[in-house]
Amino acid sequence: MYGKLLLGATSRPAVQSMMTDSALNEKVVARFVAGETAPSAVAAVRRLTSQGLKVTLDYLGEDITDLRQADETVEAYRFLVEALAETRLADGAEISVKLSAVGQSLGPDGPRASTDRAHKLVEHAASLGVDVTFDMEDHTTVDHTLSTVTELRNEFPRVGCVLQSMLLRTEGDARDLAYAGSRVRIVKGAYAEPASVAHKKRAAVDAAYVRCVRSLVDGGAYPMIASHDTRLLDIAAFLFEASGRAQDAGEFQMLYGIRQDEQLKRAQDGHTMRVYVPFGTDWYGYFTRRLAERPANLAFFVRALISR
Ligand code: FAD
Repeated sequence: MYGKLLLGATSRPAVQSMMTDSALNEKVVARFVAGETAPSAVAAVRRLTSQGLKVTLDYLGEDITDLRQADETVEAYRFLVEALAETRLADGAEISVKLSAVGQSLGPDGPRASTDRAHKLVEHAASLGVDVTFDMEDHTTVDHTLSTVTELRNEFPRVGCVLQSMLLRTEGDARDLAYAGSRVRIVKGAYAEPASVAHKKRAAVDAAYVRCVRSLVDGGAYPMIASHDTRLLDIAAFLFEASGRAQDAGEFQMLYGIRQDEQLKRAQDGHTMRVYVPFGTDWYGYFTRRLAERPANLAFFVRALISR
């Protein structure tokens, strides 16, 4: 309820203009976003990897309005991947891409245009040893995102995808994706979805999450446990161990700026912990989803607003 109300309020232009005030950006957004440029993202990668963490980088820009911007997104990722390779940070790195940032929602030809751009992007990243995972957006985009991943995996089997345990369809999708080598990030889901397609009770979302992880582990896939919910990480660690593949059975992922102590602790315990590092100027949608997830983040934001 809190999340739905907040996502509604932050889509209003007046709220948007107050929140994108530049003085506020520096203070608040910096907590969740690793700067506006590729060099600032690369600096964050250097810092995180020196602490034993892995990274996945997200160039923020889901709200595009024409194909020129979709091409700019592809270029921005090319530039980033080359910067990682030049600074010897490409090994083990991943990029996270939203199909809407490469054109998915631009009219009837948008889906095909986004798949073509996704192909270009993956081809270039793979040539420099960087993995690509496609983020999952709201429920209307799931079919196209999964079909893009299936198409790309014919040529690039390491392409990753995301499943959201809040969606009623997801346990079926997890069974379909539970095969050896299949890289699947599993999340609870960050979008306000109607009851016709999504679990509404937290306990149901969590129980579905565990069932999906179990399917993926049993099928020999590589689940990427993306959550700050330590109970879920503990259950997944138990399932990894029970599979007999221990640390190689999957990995943990958390967002930049959230539960950093826990990120370091899990890495020090010998698990692969990957940090999702967003960067770029178009941070508004990403930032408001983080506020919607947790009332304490809103309090942090309001304090910064008052103390300006
Ligand atoms: P929750 O039950 O929300 O949180 C558990 C605990 O973690 C909370 O009690 C709190 O202590 C802490 N916590 C959670 N969120 C925050 C926060 N914002 N700030 C501070 N503390 C917090 N969603 C998608 O829909 N599509 C994606 O492609 C996607 N990719 C993601 C990639 C990664 C690496 C991660 C970590 C999340 C991603 N998400 C994505 C977001 C996800 O769906 C959830 O909205 C988000 O992770 C919050 O759920 P949770 O699993 O952390 O559990």
